[in-house]
Amino acid sequence: MTSPLLPDGQTCLGVLGGGQLGRMFVHAAQTLGFRTVVLDPDADSPAGAAAHHHLRAPYLDADALAELASRCAAVTTEFENVPAAALQTLAASVPVAPAAAAVAICQDRFAEKRHFQRSEVPCAPFATIAADADLAAPGLDALLPGILKTTRLGYDGKGQVAVPSRQALADAWATLGRAPCVLEKRLALQRELSVIVARGADGALVHLPVQQNLHRDGILAVTQVPAPDVPKATARDAVTLAGRLAASMDYVGVLCVEFFLVDDGSLVANEMAPRPHNSGHYSVDACDLSQFDLQVRTLARLPLPAPRQHSAAVMLNLLGDLWQAGPGAPPRTPDWAAVLALPGVHLHLYGKTQPRPGRKMGHLTVTAADPARARAVALQAAACLGLPAF
Ligand code: ADP
Ligand code: MG
Repeated sequence: MTSPLLPDGQTCLGVLGGGQLGRMFVHAAQTLGFRTVVLDPDADSPAGAAAHHHLRAPYLDADALAELASRCAAVTTEFENVPAAALQTLAASVPVAPAAAAVAICQDRFAEKRHFQRSEVPCAPFATIAADADLAAPGLDALLPGILKTTRLGYDGKGQVAVPSRQALADAWATLGRAPCVLEKRLALQRELSVIVARGADGALVHLPVQQNLHRDGILAVTQVPAPDVPKATARDAVTLAGRLAASMDYVGVLCVEFFLVDDGSLVANEMAPRPHNSGHYSVDACDLSQFDLQVRTLARLPLPAPRQHSAAVMLNLLGDLWQAGPGAPPRTPDWAAVLALPGVHLHLYGKTQPRPGRKMGHLTVTAADPARARAVALQAAACLGLPAF
């Protein structure tokens, strides 16, 4: 294994993508004393504003990629839709983690499901819809009611349409622009979970505790850790499966695996993210190593001791809707003072200037000595902000 990158005041780590995940990566890297560079086309990017240097260029810009490689000792990504080709180009001249091949699997729902099957990890029954003939394939009835999902570029419930019946399928596919899709059976979910694992270049594997997630309108709304409604054995199984998925891709970096806990109590893998994940944000305030610390350490080939959660935590996502004052009215600032008066509240705002509905503007994590207290304070915070109870 190559020797570790040590923070000596000069060593620079790079990240492709300038969103909030990149911003928190930059914070973690800077805390350890690394310099940081962000490549993102957006002049107003949350990570670009925090990094030592912001390269403002498209992800496939050859000059920008060459400059990123020359400035950095290693490069990672914060955004799974960054073209795998950009990672491949970089890898010719600088260590890149995760590798382009692993990112390519996570970018494509079909490749991802094939990887689940290869790794003997259960996933929802599915079929591919990529041509007119596929609409008439026998066996689709067993997948209905289902959800049609574009194989690429979906996030936060975008690129998905419910398909209640066979008749609705062609229209649903047209709605999605006849892009290659997977039709997935809609499962009866008890709970949604996720697990974050970090795997080093030497194969060392550590994990964060299992998170329980509540989505609203396809977007993560609340994460609770420890997961209140998940049996310990199920949580252990989720960690085992996530570790197996990472190892079978020879993955280096932070990987998040989303699971469904279905009505019969079994676990079904939903999707993977080749990077830190919204459901792991609580780890910044509630664990002795956050998902971003783990991302820095895997990239720099530094040691990976097992993270420990020192506080119970509840994370609430703060979407742009909170800023909406009414039709035609200018955005208002939510009542942060009321929220910050509550004990154990850690407010994280990403520095985005345009609070569009559904846009992730920030999150808050409530930490407490026990889960009941964390939940009680999080419910108070939600009430202050006009968010629904959970
Ligand atoms: P995204 O990339 O937008 O996160 P997901 O595939 O994770 O897409 O779907 C978003 C949410 O939609 C999930 O967290 C879950 O609440 C719901 N969902 C997705 N697929 C299914 C399914 N097969 N059965 C039931 N619910 C689903
Ligand atoms: Mg998801």
